[in-house]
Amino acid sequence: MRKSRANITIDLDAKGKHHGHICFAKSVDDSAWGQIRLPVTVIRNDSGSGSGSGKTLLLVAGNHGDEYEGMVAQFKLAQKLQEDDVRGCVIILPCLNFPAVAAGMRTSPLDGGNMNRAFDGDAGGNWTQQIAHFVTTELLPRADIVLDMHSGGKTLDFIPSAVMHRLEDEKQMRETAAALKAFAAPVSMVLEEDTSGMLDGAAERRGKIFISTELGGRGSVVAERVAIAENGIHNVMAHFGIIDAPLQKSETPTRFMDTPAENFIRATRSGIYEPLADLGDTIAEGDPVGQIWDFHNLCTAPEIYAAPSDGIIYARHVPGLIAPGDCMALVAVASEMQE
Ligand SMILES: [Zn+2]
Repeated sequence: MRKSRANITIDLDAKGKHHGHICFAKSVDDSAWGQIRLPVTVIRNDSGSGSGSGKTLLLVAGNHGDEYEGMVAQFKLAQKLQEDDVRGCVIILPCLNFPAVAAGMRTSPLDGGNMNRAFDGDAGGNWTQQIAHFVTTELLPRADIVLDMHSGGKTLDFIPSAVMHRLEDEKQMRETAAALKAFAAPVSMVLEEDTSGMLDGAAERRGKIFISTELGGRGSVVAERVAIAENGIHNVMAHFGIIDAPLQKSETPTRFMDTPAENFIRATRSGIYEPLADLGDTIAEGDPVGQIWDFHNLCTAPEIYAAPSDGIIYARHVPGLIAPGDCMALVAVASEMQE
């Protein structure tokens, strides 16, 4: 692939702790000769004194700009983690789609780009593609493990979970599942998903251990969910020997779950959404999950949506208004996989 045009203010390979920026030229009406500046922190201690050089963990958040739990956990880590704490390297990039983060939006207001559909990126493409290309060509080659922290943004809310894909390579699958278990989120989700355009696929195809998350949502932050994010990062670093610390187990063991494609419940009319089951509720096939009220006509009965299978409500639509095609809820089922 072509070389990235990004300008980096620190040496990504220098030993020690360094805060800097990854800069992309942006010459627009309100900023001639301007830049997009992604904050980055690199904590590297890989001189390898007898015990090897250690692994490199790439931490990402802000892939979608309105998903905050992972960002906040990574801001804290960038302040707290020191060179002497680390064996190997931790690269922290909490605002990947920086224009989207700055605008509080899912996608970039500059070019409309959805970062997680832009991989492997393009050195000469729009800004979203240029950022994706930088990650693909400069950060993925340096990383052994990638943890990309998402949540539901403004329109969805999730049971806090760590997420992986079913992988063809058995060793990669086994090692990823072990890392997912170490993360110890309330739910460990195993997805079958078309990952083209996603950071997920870009990392997995290159043989990396890749974990994503869905930590909450509502376009805001809840203290308990930031704690789950921080705990998960700690545990992933400890699991791979990047920090010398015990795993912090949660009170209830993580549940491995699945989301079959037919379990996405989508609205077929517009109106006001009333959940009939809440996030985390256990439901049986056929149970009412939600209904949509026609606020124009009080004589119209609400349209009721039923659970496609037994399971738990894993995700739900957040805004009061809903429109045809919106994801109303997602029912997760127990996975046969335990590790
Ligand atoms: Zn996301």
